[in-house]
Amino acid sequence: MSHISSEELAVSYGWKILSTFLVQIGRQTYSLPEKGVFVNDPLARGSTVIYPSVEAMRRSEKGKYEHETLYGAMGSPNQHQLEQVIAQIEGGSHCQVVSSGLAACTIPLLGFLSSGDHCLIIDSIYGPTKRFAETVLKKFGVEISYYPADCNLGEIETYIQNNTKLIFTESPGSHSFEIQNIAGTAEIAHRYGAKLILDNTWGIGIFKPFEHGVDISVQALTKYANGHSDLVLGAITVKCDDDWHILRDYAVAMGEVAAPDVCWLTLRGLRTMAARLEKQSVTGLKIAHWCSRQPYVERVLHPALPSCYGHEFWKRDFTGASSVFGVVFKKNIILQKVIEMINHLKIFSIGASWGGYESLVLLTDGEIRRKYKSRTLTGSACRFHIGLENENDLIEDLKQAFDKTLK
Ligand SMILES: *Cc1c(COP(=O)(O)O)cnc(C)c1O
Repeated sequence: MSHISSEELAVSYGWKILSTFLVQIGRQTYSLPEKGVFVNDPLARGSTVIYPSVEAMRRSEKGKYEHETLYGAMGSPNQHQLEQVIAQIEGGSHCQVVSSGLAACTIPLLGFLSSGDHCLIIDSIYGPTKRFAETVLKKFGVEISYYPADCNLGEIETYIQNNTKLIFTESPGSHSFEIQNIAGTAEIAHRYGAKLILDNTWGIGIFKPFEHGVDISVQALTKYANGHSDLVLGAITVKCDDDWHILRDYAVAMGEVAAPDVCWLTLRGLRTMAARLEKQSVTGLKIAHWCSRQPYVERVLHPALPSCYGHEFWKRDFTGASSVFGVVFKKNIILQKVIEMINHLKIFSIGASWGGYESLVLLTDGEIRRKYKSRTLTGSACRFHIGLENENDLIEDLKQAFDKTLK
């Protein structure tokens, strides 16, 4: 066995403590019926629910906020089971599963904002969320502004207006990986009567949003939760009942629902998430270290490394790391060389998204539309997602591609 450094232990720590929890949550393990049941809940497809009487049907309507199955378009038993599991992982009270990670970002924006409100968004937000703000939210009269991903709390406060109703943040930032002081941001939001939404996709299971003052946490379950690159799904979790009622009413009004099959597969993916991520995060950190020692590399953007903006908040707030990080190349390495390097990789596949079992690489250019010049993305850059392959095979692959193209 290879030597494990304390840093590597730290990145896998959160996953170790989650493993038993992820196997057991949302599952009946006590008072099993005498005749026994399958380990996994069955897949249940359906539209209409039928009742024995009009009174029984009327009584059931009270179950709208209780994750009861009332009609197919309002969620299935598999969706509701997944909602309870995600609420527990995130540490909130209620969760609404929606059709994609992007829908998990857009639904609360629409549900909690009205025309005339101001929404303050971090500049490093997931690109399609920014596109949604620029098109749909602006069209409906919501004022949008952005704050730099690498500014301190005092600076964030200067972007607050008297009509600010929401701050939408993401930590680490898309492509540039800045880690945010979430508790500090929440304190500012609340002082001005606004809510804080966090896109917590990178931090699933290793950052507890509601312990740091977040009001609404969103997840792209497409990523590590499902883990097999075979579906898209999202989740929105809240901690207070008032927010739950607003969110649930809005999701139902919008006709937001996820297919039972997709929820069932995501539950299956979650059972092994701790084991996958424990392995992927340790391999990821080793590869991040390897990259940081290469002469072509200016900076590695991995939250567990001091070269990442906000590393001190990662140390303070996270119990582990995931396996996505960025690499910024030296100024003299032009974009075309990085493109060639990516084209020379054999084990890494070129593709968007992350969180599956396979390693991926993505050119960072063209993905980022920033209002403020990034102090982190100072040269050509790419993003790596580390999968379950053998670490030496991955390093060999990087080595041959780096040396052939970046010299
Ligand atoms: C992938 C991703 C999304 C969107 O998820 P989809 O299921 O692909 O729509 C949103 N936020 C973050 C941070 C993501 O990485």
